[in-house]
Amino acid sequence: MEKVIDIKHLNKSFGSHEVLRDVNFTVNKGEVVCLIGSSGSGKSTLLRCINLLETPSGGEIIYNGENILDDKHDIKQYRTHLGMVFQQFNLFNNHNVLKNCIVGQQKVLKRSKEEAKTNALKYLQIVGMDQYINAKPRQLSGGQKQRVAIARALAMDPEVMLFDEPTSALDPEMVGEVLKVMRQLADEGHTMLIVTHEMEFAREVSDRVVFMDKGVIVEEGSPEQVLVNPKQERTKEFLKRTL
Ligand code: ADP
Ligand code: MG
Repeated sequence: MEKVIDIKHLNKSFGSHEVLRDVNFTVNKGEVVCLIGSSGSGKSTLLRCINLLETPSGGEIIYNGENILDDKHDIKQYRTHLGMVFQQFNLFNNHNVLKNCIVGQQKVLKRSKEEAKTNALKYLQIVGMDQYINAKPRQLSGGQKQRVAIARALAMDPEVMLFDEPTSALDPEMVGEVLKVMRQLADEGHTMLIVTHEMEFAREVSDRVVFMDKGVIVEEGSPEQVLVNPKQERTKEFLKRTL
């Protein structure tokens, strides 16, 4: 299997608080990996380290064979390969839907307006938001905003999509429409690393589930292994609480 992201002995501390301790794991090409764990266990920090929104305190992040924490590495270039979807959407509120999906392509990837527009429309159609290109974010529901955020990330044609609890800020009736889009992306073979509390979804779409507790990976394996037949007490306790 082709490793896209390979995390080795990753550590992250805020002051004396060790938030990630010796984290090791891999995301292979085309794989869907779900990261689960209680609030405060370090899941967001791990994603933020992977896209270098946080600087790791130690360890390696190997992207397609190269340690991106090496000084010589071009961080801007690296980041263009990662699409990030946040809990709070982080759309540009002053731009309409289409522009939200175009500006990054123009500024970062130096695409022409026409090319950026074609690509944006393609992904807005995939997430079912092509009827809303002129709407401003404030005119959209949470589920619609998150689908635009997903289209915006996809429009950059990233190699890996990172999701940090994409449905946690949504009203319950809107969770389904976002998970449906994510399921479709998984089926299409996108490489995805997803932090989620949606256990049913994790069981259905993941190739692998990683359970984190207090900054440590406690257990990882197939959804069957981790979610149905966990070996570790901490995993069992966590799953009992989330039922
Ligand atoms: P999760 O996403 O699993 O809920 P986080 O990664 O957000 O967990 O947080 C893990 C721990 O790191 C928490 O104790 C949190 O308070 C701490 N933490 C996260 N970001 C910072 C920061 N910028 N400064 C200090 N502590 C932080
Ligand atoms: Mg978090």
